[in-house]
Amino acid sequence: MSVKAWLFGAVVVVMMAACAFPSLEDDPAPQRASGTVTSALKDVERFWGEQFPELADGQAFQPIKGGYHPYTESDPPPPCGGQQADYSPNAFYCPDQDFIAWDAQTLIPSLEADYGPALVGVVMAHEYGHAIQARIGPDDQPTVVLEQQADCYAGAWLADVLAGRSKAFKKLSAEQLDTTVAGLLLLRDQPGTPAEADGAHGNAFDRIRALQEGVEDGAGQCAKYRANNLPVTEVPFSTRREAETGGDLPYDDAVQALAQDAQSYWQRTYPQLTGDQWQQLPVQAFEAGSPPACERPDASAGGAAFYCPDGDFAAFDTTDLGPQLHSRIGDYAVGMLLGDLFARAAQDRRGAETRDKAGQLTVDCLAGSWTNDVLTRQDQDSLRLSPGDLDEAVSALLAFGRASDGNGPTAFDRIASYRSGVLEGLPACRA
Ligand SMILES: [Zn+2]
Repeated sequence: MSVKAWLFGAVVVVMMAACAFPSLEDDPAPQRASGTVTSALKDVERFWGEQFPELADGQAFQPIKGGYHPYTESDPPPPCGGQQADYSPNAFYCPDQDFIAWDAQTLIPSLEADYGPALVGVVMAHEYGHAIQARIGPDDQPTVVLEQQADCYAGAWLADVLAGRSKAFKKLSAEQLDTTVAGLLLLRDQPGTPAEADGAHGNAFDRIRALQEGVEDGAGQCAKYRANNLPVTEVPFSTRREAETGGDLPYDDAVQALAQDAQSYWQRTYPQLTGDQWQQLPVQAFEAGSPPACERPDASAGGAAFYCPDGDFAAFDTTDLGPQLHSRIGDYAVGMLLGDLFARAAQDRRGAETRDKAGQLTVDCLAGSWTNDVLTRQDQDSLRLSPGDLDEAVSALLAFGRASDGNGPTAFDRIASYRSGVLEGLPACRA
């Protein structure tokens, strides 16, 4: 996030190879992949046996011919297209030999240990999606389109799991679904990757969008993905300075700039929602564990942030929660928190619900509508988003908005609702 346009146009970009995954810091003891990968791949194959004919004018599905290949450092993957592949913590589809290979030493065991088997299933369903592309195309699209189509296909398979139709995976709980989405954040591009770069997969915001579209609308929708109909928010850093700081403002500056911007956004747009004027919303800082008195706080982030309807003010913990969001995720995680509080105030002030599922989802959409305004405004001297900011918002939702007690919406649904606000603006939140 930045508050001012800078003069220098140089761009520093970190690119990643196709289907690359970040290297993982802890090396677990070498081990072969568990049965999870193979049973996931077989289940994905079952799924495509059912779905493929519809996408391919009645053609029968041909499963992968080149086999499944777990590899390790000492037992590398088979050559692909005549080239010996070196060991890397990765998973990939080889179009020439029609096989799928994966790092059974580090990547897959770590993903499974940290995020559960469903994420391993999603990674394999993504690779299988490339095998589907090898069968029915398209073959003239930029990498980022093909990668998001593979994510969408993975989502179409995940819908089967969620519906209880998978033979390999039991129906996922809300917590497991959120954990799976959290794992996808690991697999995003480095912030600042231009969407048109070779090997770009998309930021987490775009990748989760594609996955969710597959879940909601199925493989037929994924098959339509083309460069001219795919919303892609991934952008490169616009200045050298932005690239050097990763686009993050210092904590205090970020809080001030964000609060000010949210205030002016709601001054401009609240009348569209209700016909009433927006009254300045006081935002109180408090020390961790010592919130200001409030009879019935409308809480977010487990109570570390809230809107107080009787006192008509917002408050958040600026000694623990705020700095943690900023240092662990980034400045726009603080933006997500403030966006949530202002949206909560807007809802409460107009007498709408915030404390049930639908109310929370409207709050997330309204928070997204502010992000939409920041993204689409012409005025470059005011607050502007940096690459990575939308992913920070998604990370923040996963950090403080997860399904925990079974009553609230899942982070999966909250991210979807936030995204409608981001992509479509305020009109998306009126329903
Ligand atoms: Zn891929």
